[in-house]
Amino acid sequence: MRKKIIAGNWKMHKSFDEAMALTSEIVNMVGSEYNGSAKVVLIPPFVYVNSVSRMVNATTNIACGAQNCSNHASGAYTGEVSAAMIKSCGANYVIIGHSERRQYFAEHNLWLAQKIDAALANDLVAIYCVGETLEERESNTHFDVLKSQITEGLFHLTAAKMANVVVAYEPVWAIGTGKTATTAQAQEVHAFIRNLIAAKFGAETANNLTIQYGGSVKPENAAELFAAPDIDGALVGGAALQSRSFTDIVKAMP
Ligand code: PEP
Repeated sequence: MRKKIIAGNWKMHKSFDEAMALTSEIVNMVGSEYNGSAKVVLIPPFVYVNSVSRMVNATTNIACGAQNCSNHASGAYTGEVSAAMIKSCGANYVIIGHSERRQYFAEHNLWLAQKIDAALANDLVAIYCVGETLEERESNTHFDVLKSQITEGLFHLTAAKMANVVVAYEPVWAIGTGKTATTAQAQEVHAFIRNLIAAKFGAETANNLTIQYGGSVKPENAAELFAAPDIDGALVGGAALQSRSFTDIVKAMP
């Protein structure tokens, strides 16, 4: 059985005190209310990663991640944060290629492939985000876009390295818009991605790959999404900023 992962991406939200309060609420709620199989990952801004890691690493089913890492190992790159730094602060996951990084910071697939290498070299699980814009979906080019994102971002890896990669399918038109992809739309893309991975790395690697859905996941739609055969969890933005809604999404994963 492949791993189910529910991750909360806090983006650029919360003060330090608010982040600590949210973490402790989630630790308590998940600890007392959740008996399912999912790994829960809290993904705060960099400056809170060490504190959040200290709080969650004492639990069995909650971990911490970062929202981005540098493609460089170290050096004169003012403002950047390396994968090794993230790991040294106690995190075990890192998001690579979120659509907001692609859109506002011009991150492209080949650069993201280097970031994935940096993450894996430092024993971080890379959550690699892919997804099409509304224009690409409406012009029916979304499968071509997704194929490029997957092949250019991941196909340089070995099957062994793929064991530490998670793919998050996040249609850009569904992020922060309140517009969720239908379960059928998400399942279709997840199956497409799994087939691409199978063709390149073999059936075992594809079957073991966790593919999360992201885009306006809420307590109301999580259970239906999670029931689809190729949807292995969620990357949650807005609904991850409150302990009640995030924990209710976690609880929707058996
Ligand atoms: C995200 O940013 O990864 C995301 C899925 O956001 P939201 O849940 O708010 O759509």
